[in-house]
Amino acid sequence: MDITFKKCPECGSDKIRIVASDFKEPDGLVVSRLERWVCPDCQAIYYDDSAMRRIEAARTPAKSRSRSLVA
Ligand SMILES: [Zn+2]
Repeated sequence: MDITFKKCPECGSDKIRIVASDFKEPDGLVVSRLERWVCPDCQAIYYDDSAMRRIEAARTPAKSRSRSLVA
């Protein structure tokens, strides 16, 4: 993770922690074992840059991804 929280920015709870589990989007996209910060008190969820990149990569079709690697 690129970011660290000692307290939840939303409610100030110190119970905020990293959760790594399968991430499912409403449209059916799944990112396995995605890490994000979750606050159990206010249900706030925070994604860092690497988590966002994994979601973006999962959204990008394999074809265009391999093309951009060559370019
Ligand atoms: Zn909170």
